[in-house]
Amino acid sequence: MRMEFIDTHCHINFGQFRDDLSSVITSARKAGVRKFVVPGVDAVTSETAVKLSQKYPGDIIPAVGFHPYEAQRTDPSGAARHLESMLKKCPYAAVGECGLDYHIYKGHEATGKKDAQKFLLETHLRLAIRYGRTATIHCRDAFDDLFDLIDSLPRLPKAVLHCFSGGMRQVRQAEERKLLMGVDGNVTYSKQLAANVRSIPLSNLLLETDSPLLTPVPLRGRRNEPKNLRLVARAVAAIKGVPLPEVAEITGHNSRSMFFAYYG
Ligand SMILES: [Zn+2]
Ligand SMILES: [Zn+2]
Repeated sequence: MRMEFIDTHCHINFGQFRDDLSSVITSARKAGVRKFVVPGVDAVTSETAVKLSQKYPGDIIPAVGFHPYEAQRTDPSGAARHLESMLKKCPYAAVGECGLDYHIYKGHEATGKKDAQKFLLETHLRLAIRYGRTATIHCRDAFDDLFDLIDSLPRLPKAVLHCFSGGMRQVRQAEERKLLMGVDGNVTYSKQLAANVRSIPLSNLLLETDSPLLTPVPLRGRRNEPKNLRLVARAVAAIKGVPLPEVAEITGHNSRSMFFAYYG
């Protein structure tokens, strides 16, 4: 049986892919990467993700959302209306990329800015729960606030902690809340991350590239693209000591149940 992989977080809706997207998709398919989840980070890139999903039906799932970097310049009620109308129009769209990123405030007083991020994230998660969609969550240096926020919601959202960067305590906290964790190309060069991934069962992992960022070894310095998901998969197989087809099968199953359920 041919191995198939799903890139569960790639920004092929960004300007970096404007000129050669169809060849990027062709080379991904040649590498066995057949399906893609494409998150927006603002109104424009979310709309672009939805348009791409119409061009590649069943193979591209868009996620609509406002990145925490946008929290300062995003009006939360306008964002909520925009998100809701996109979710209504696109019944298979996921939610995101949304989240909390406190790394950008290191060394600065940022209470109000953090509150703006939290409010924007809560808006996304409440919509994800209301519309039964999966959320792709970005979290950097903000896990305590993230888990507190999730625990304050009326129900657990179905969600992935994309590009997971937590330690063992955060792995357990994610597992208690049935959140899956996304692994990216940085697993090929971060020993700490590799050690964490070793202890997460495959049944809780998804593979992603975060293209155009996080290019894996040995291609670092170049634009990342979904075909490089193979390198992430190979690294996970080596770290966990399991055959590559098993990584493909289990992470593929996880990805389909999180993002492609609409297509059966
Ligand atoms: Zn992210
Ligand atoms: Zn991203």
